[in-house]
Amino acid sequence: MVHFVGAGPGDPDLITVRGRELLAKARAVIYAGSLVNPALLSVCPADCEIRNSAYMTLEEVIRVMEACHARGEDVVRLHTGDPSLYGAIREQMDELDARGIPYEVVPGVSAFSGAAAALGLEYTLPGISQSVVITRMEGRTPVPEREKIERFAAHQSTMVLFLSAGLLPELSAALMEGGYPADTPAAIVYKATWPDEKRVLCTVAELPEAARREQICKTALIIVGRVLAGRDYDRSCLYDPAFTTEFRKGSQER
Ligand code: SAH
Repeated sequence: MVHFVGAGPGDPDLITVRGRELLAKARAVIYAGSLVNPALLSVCPADCEIRNSAYMTLEEVIRVMEACHARGEDVVRLHTGDPSLYGAIREQMDELDARGIPYEVVPGVSAFSGAAAALGLEYTLPGISQSVVITRMEGRTPVPEREKIERFAAHQSTMVLFLSAGLLPELSAALMEGGYPADTPAAIVYKATWPDEKRVLCTVAELPEAARREQICKTALIIVGRVLAGRDYDRSCLYDPAFTTEFRKGSQER
């Protein structure tokens, strides 16, 4: 069986208990070496075969999974953050389906959760934004026309951009052209939850200069939206004394 496991955003403590237990008994591990913290591999048994998928093609990854399956061994496929976001797991699962090899997915803490924690940020503040757009700039991987940054920017909701730290002049221009005022708060979080994490607060217009100054061009998330200012939001209904829920009767007191 193949276990697709989310490694979390960097700090080795941020893998799930289930993920760590699978690593601790793994016979074979294929990890995404460009971003997964290798410290996570220290719990693997001494005789575990460990491969870095940064040097492998999809075909090579599948061949290793097939060989392990034939020997009756489980494989842990360790992906950064949560595997469901930009993880290229669908293509692996389809190849495994075609070969009748069973698999499961163990979720992980995505970098976008790690970045919010690093900033002490709530993405969904009442009265400001109740939606988070997770997207990316087009790079070598195309983005559908209907998902262009300008189109999402028209909503002025909270936006989290993966895989875009090297394209900030274009991103900043597209965000403003799409509808965010130039002074909309923005943040760059580099290597969230790693020891060398950096957090930079700026505005949408200042994004390219802020990244240049801090020499950030990869392994970062860009966060945009008025939730970053953290002001002028409404209190939650859930914890309002006057609000009645399934669990609590509201009163007039404050
Ligand atoms: N599946 C991963 C994302 C993989 S795509 C997840 O859920 O987090 C790789 C991109 O994720 C990077 O280019 C960067 O934009 C972002 N990323 C991954 N780890 C990060 C971290 N610790 N801090 C900031 N951004 C990170």
